[in-house]
Amino acid sequence: MSKILIIYTGGTVGMIYDEKTKALRPIGFNEIRNNLPELYRMGIDFYVYAFNPPIDSSDMQPEVWVELAGIIEDRYERYDGFVILHGSDTMSFTASALSFMLENLSKPVILTGSQLPIGKIRTDAKENIITAMEIAATRLNGHVMIPEVCIYFDFSLFRGNRSKKYNAEKFEAFYSMNYPPLAEAGIDIKYKRQFVLPHPVKPLVVHKHLDDNVTVLKIFPGITRKAVEATLNVPGLKGVVLETFGNGNANTQPWFIESLKKAIDQGVIVVDITQCDGGSVELGKYETSQYLKEIGVISGHDMTFEAAITKLMFVLGQDLPPEDAKRMIEMPLRGELTVND
Ligand code: ASP
Repeated sequence: MSKILIIYTGGTVGMIYDEKTKALRPIGFNEIRNNLPELYRMGIDFYVYAFNPPIDSSDMQPEVWVELAGIIEDRYERYDGFVILHGSDTMSFTASALSFMLENLSKPVILTGSQLPIGKIRTDAKENIITAMEIAATRLNGHVMIPEVCIYFDFSLFRGNRSKKYNAEKFEAFYSMNYPPLAEAGIDIKYKRQFVLPHPVKPLVVHKHLDDNVTVLKIFPGITRKAVEATLNVPGLKGVVLETFGNGNANTQPWFIESLKKAIDQGVIVVDITQCDGGSVELGKYETSQYLKEIGVISGHDMTFEAAITKLMFVLGQDLPPEDAKRMIEMPLRGELTVND
């Protein structure tokens, strides 16, 4: 019998409507347990670690990712897999951060939640939790099926650091534009084993240093010099995710190039990702990205924003020499990017 640890952090999955405030507010895990008697019929030996108080995931912070990584590290040998119940708003950020923090992961860490609270008749919470549990408990030839941090939501299992919340209304809240789902649940759960990361040969290493001296600069036609400079002059800044157009292109006004170059020369790592949901940065494909390459902007390839910003925090937290840090950002560490060029 597989032994699974459910880590309940909060989110809509465990919320009720508060008549007084007229807003949804988090409740404890017992309420979830009461609404999900099926959990006891699954043939899975499960235990629960519940955050007290549970949090709306919009309040998620890097310190909580460190806490989550620590909870998994401390109990790693005792469980076959982990299911994290989490609000959907920042689930992709948490999944991305954990994927970097848990190096050589050989057990499933499946995040899930729901769009409707578990107490609602039409809730999506039950299916999401039950199938996430089943995936976390599944083994093949003695090995776990999914040695990765994933998100299971609305019948699809996505690599966590490839996922994005794209819809606040549909039950299908997530997608993974640049990587296929690792499994799809219908009558059976169909695993796409060719897309799953290989089992690691080395033991788990948990990285708990994240550097939050990072920010994002999302460009748009008409962005002003003062807005760009204010962003790049944040005190202590070490890393910027530059969200550009198309294949990684940006405006070529001299003041814009100069501002970026100045930041890079001062040691700030600038990583280029595209504002498009699908596709990849190809630095140098157009003249409008050639200069970015020349001044030292590095390519985030086809990373999501969620993966890029958490990867920056993770890599900067390693205190590596700048060239090593840049190399690490440009290469795939946990299947979060594909290098095309
Ligand atoms: N605000 C909620 C959260 O992210 C939304 C959800 O769970 O879907 O915690």
